[in-house]
Formats: sequence, structure tokens, C-alpha cells
Amino acid sequence: MRIKVTGMGRFDGKVVVVTGSGRGIGRATALAFAREGADVVVNVSKSVDEGNAVVEEIKALGRGAIMAKADVANEAEVEKMIKTAIDHFRKVDVLVNNAGIGISSMSYKMTKEQWDAVVDVNLTGVFNCFRAVVPRMMERRSGKIINISSVAGIDGFIGNINYAASKGGLLAFNRTAATELGRYGINVNAVAPGIIETQMTEWIKIPKYRDMYLSRIPLGRFGKPEDIASVVLFLASEEANYITGQVIRVD
Ligand code: NAD
Repeated sequence: MRIKVTGMGRFDGKVVVVTGSGRGIGRATALAFAREGADVVVNVSKSVDEGNAVVEEIKALGRGAIMAKADVANEAEVEKMIKTAIDHFRKVDVLVNNAGIGISSMSYKMTKEQWDAVVDVNLTGVFNCFRAVVPRMMERRSGKIINISSVAGIDGFIGNINYAASKGGLLAFNRTAATELGRYGINVNAVAPGIIETQMTEWIKIPKYRDMYLSRIPLGRFGKPEDIASVVLFLASEEANYITGQVIRVD
């Protein structure tokens, strides 16, 4: 049974695009927005089944949802995704740049292909989504953009120089975009997660790594996707109207 609840959530009437939302942090974020009233564009690059499952979960909450298959690194596919979003929902209020990948290798062994693959998704992918959405937000003089960076972009990440550089670059992007877009009523902020339990961090199941990293975490546990989603929702909400260009570590 589908129950439509209205007038209850912080995001009633809002339209949110979450890239890479078939699983992990993106999925938790898409569902959290829907629970608080938003209609959501669910994006996947390959796993259509995962995307469709999230769309069904959102519809079961009584919210609108569509699945847009697009590789964020592909400019034409991103344009099409945002056009589909606007054709369907008429606007985009919030863009969450969440899609991201990692390919590990020590810096001195890394290939150009490994470098390009990660930068293309984690940094150029954000630029592609940003470019497709921002002119429409500027026209409406309103919008919230949240970039999912990483503590790796601040602290570095051994064996992942491509990932750390892309996430650090994203923080410079974040700051610059916020500075340029503030006058158009658009807030741009970033979240820098620590280690969150998703498919990206399967390696924390290896006891050696698990124990080493856990011993450095004051709260004594790894993060859950919902720990990131709640901060993204805060930054996208009216409660954060006077916050822009910031990065919140959630670690
Ligand atoms: P995940 O691998 O579970 O999910 C990533 C999602 O992005 C997947 O749905 C994947 O299909 C999608 N994706 C990958 N490439 C894409 C592309 N080219 N176009 C569109 N979608 C694409 O990982 P996650 O942990 O949920 O990661 C989400 C974001 O959080 C990423 O940007 C990641 O770098 C960041 N992050 C994760 C952690 C962590 O510990 N898990 C820590 C810091 C930052």
C-alpha cells in the first residue's frame, strides 16, 4: 500500500538529484530526502536494477521518483539526465554530487588510465552535473549543491593518490563555486566522510585493517551511510541558508 504523506517534511515540494544513488551513501541520501518529502531523481551508471529498486522504495513512501541512467563522466549523458529531471519534475532544487570511485595503486606505480578513470568520475563528473544544473538554478535564484568529498581530500590517502587528488580538487571547486554563486542564491557545500560501511570499503572486513583503522576512530565504529545522509539533508535544508563554501568532516 502506498501512503502519501504531505506537509510533514523539510523537503516537501523539492526536487533532488542524487548521483550514484543505487547503493551506499547515495541510496541512503535519496531515501532520507524522500522520507522528508522530496521527489528524487535516482542516478546509476550501470546497475539499473539497483536504481529501479531505490525508485520503488521511494514510491512506496508516496514520493515521486525516476531513474536516470547516466555516467557522470559523460557530458551528453548528464545533460540528458538533467533534461529528463526537468521535463518530469519541472525543476531541480538540490544537486548531490555523490557518484565516486576509487582505484588503488601506489603513486609511483599508477597508470595514466587509473588516474584518468578516477579524476573523470570524481572531479570532471561533478563539473558535468554542476554545468547542467547551475544555469537553471541561477534563473530561479535558488539552489543547494552538496559535494561528497572525503577526508582523503584533506589528509591524503596512501595508495590512492588519484582519489585523494580528486577529492581535494573537489574542495577547491566547492569553495570557488560557492564564492561565484552566492549572489544567485545558490549554496555550495561539501561533506568529507571518514570510513563509511559501503561496497567501496569492503576492505575494512579484513581484520588487520579493521583493527588498525578502528583504533584511530574516537567513536569506536565505522560510519553508516545514514550518518552522511543526515548531514547532507541539513546542508540542503533552510536551516543551512547562511552556510556556503564549507566542508563538514563526518568522521
Ligand atoms: P559505493 O561504491 O557503494 O557507491 C558509489 C555509487 O556511485 C554507486 O552507486 C556507483 O554505481 C555510482 N557510480 C560510480 N561511478 C559512477 C558514474 N561514472 N556515474 C554515475 N554513478 C556512478 O560507494 P559509497 O561509499 O556509497 O560512495 C559514495 C561517495 O562517497 C563517493 O563519492 C565516495 O568517494 C564518497 N566517500 C565514501 C567513503 C566511504 O568510506 N565509503 C568515504 C569518503 C567518501
